Order: sequence, then structure tokens, then C-alpha cells
Amino acid sequence: MSSKRSVGSIVPTRTVLEGGGFKVRRPAAMGSLMSPFLLLDEMGPVDYAPGEAVGAPWHPHRGFETVTYLLSGEMEHEDSAGSKGVLTPGDVQWMTAGKGIIHSELPTKKMMDEGGLMHGFQIWVNLPAKDKMMNPRYQDISASESPIAIKDGVWARVVAGECLGVESSIDTVIPITYVHVKMEKYSVLDKNLDSELNGMIYVFKGAVTIENKIVSDGSLAILSKGSEVSISANEESEFLILAGPEIGEPIARYGPFVMNTREEIIQAIEDYQNGILA
Ligand code: MN
Repeated sequence: MSSKRSVGSIVPTRTVLEGGGFKVRRPAAMGSLMSPFLLLDEMGPVDYAPGEAVGAPWHPHRGFETVTYLLSGEMEHEDSAGSKGVLTPGDVQWMTAGKGIIHSELPTKKMMDEGGLMHGFQIWVNLPAKDKMMNPRYQDISASESPIAIKDGVWARVVAGECLGVESSIDTVIPITYVHVKMEKYSVLDKNLDSELNGMIYVFKGAVTIENKIVSDGSLAILSKGSEVSISANEESEFLILAGPEIGEPIARYGPFVMNTREEIIQAIEDYQNGILA
């Protein structure tokens, strides 16, 4: 039997400066409410003047995945596993840090020199204890390889999971749904969302209604349990649908490391200081 998900709570965002000083919009309350997601950063939108663009130079990660999805601008990634890539609008980088990676995430030289509009997302996906120390891996999906569904005023890029019968090719460690949706005013999207998964919607343009609750620009709606969600656009709107399983394990978090215990965090710091993290 199908059951409709409603809005359980609405989390507002605040704007913070991250890394080398880039502006991000981030839901104010994080942690277990957003499980299995550890972080949701909307990078920008910010219109850089020449020489102004900033990013996150070399830094480590262990115990989770970072997923970067670019809407505007250009970013260059490089990591200790020897992977390297340039992200342009519509591209996705799904980086599994696992037991350890050191990487840099910077605007391209062109973006640094000439400036321009930067907008995108970085999301951190937690890993269950049994996968935290897996070998690092990197999946780069260019905009042209990334599946798009279009139907009745709804446009959806399926970064992970499924939407409107279209499926992503990304291989995720735990079952993740990550869909970027644009809706015309008064259009409606009915989406199945496996009852087992925690589901949420982050609106970054316009406003939508879910079971009589309005979710507007700059807010994260945590959905109740159910097998589907019905989203109506009150105006031209844009948002992310995110879903994943409850991991249900303790979280020990320190900066770029997310493990299960304090001892594992200390080990990560030591490994990094001793040059054996990655
Ligand atoms: Mn990083």
C-alpha cells in the first residue's frame, strides 16, 4: 500500500564562510536529523571578480564520501590517489574517502583569472562502520553522461537513484537518492521513495507545497516516513531530493574525519600527522 510522506520539520539555512573563504548556505541543524547525510552545503551562488575566486586547498578526509555537483562555474579536483578532474556545470564527482584521501578542490585557473558565477553543492554521505576503512574511490560523471528525465513541466537530473523512470549509473556504497529538480509553476511531481529510506528536500529557488506545508527557498524539509512524496510547485522552483538509509551507529566527528569512536578519530589525526592516512 502506498503512503504519502509529509513534512516532519523544516530546517532553515544560515550562510557561513568555509574552507579558503567561500560562501556556503547550510541547514542550521545537522547531525542525526539528516542521516545518512552529514553535511549539505550550497556553494554560492557567488559572482567572483577576477582574482577573487577561492576554494579548499589540500586537506584530508576519512570515513565518508564527498559528493560535488556543479551548477555554474568550474572547479578542479586532485587527490592523493592520483585522480584528477575538472568539473563544469552539470558534472558530478562522487569521492569515497574510505580509509583516507588528501585532496584539493579549487576553482580552475580560468575561473581564478577571469572570475565568474560559482554555484553548486557539496554533500557528505556517511558510511557504515564496515565500509569506513574501504579503499578510496572516485567516480566522475560528466553532464552528458548524467541521466535527465523531463515530464509535464518537471526537469530532473538523476545524480543517484531513480526519478520518473530514469536511473543513475553511479554506484553508491549505501542506497542513495540524489535528484536535482526544476519545476514550472503549478507542475506536480509524484515520486516513489523507498519506505526504508530517510528523505529530505532542499529548496534553493521558489517554493513548493508538500501535503499542505510550504517549503521555500533556503530551507530543508525533513520528510516523514512513507512510500512516496507529492510535490507541487507554487512558482518556478528548484530543489534537491535526498534520501538514504538510517545508519544508526554512533558518530564521532572532528573536522574532515567522521568515524564511530573518539579513538578512531585520534587514530585518523595520528595517521595524517605521520603521513600514512593516504
Ligand atoms: Mn574536501
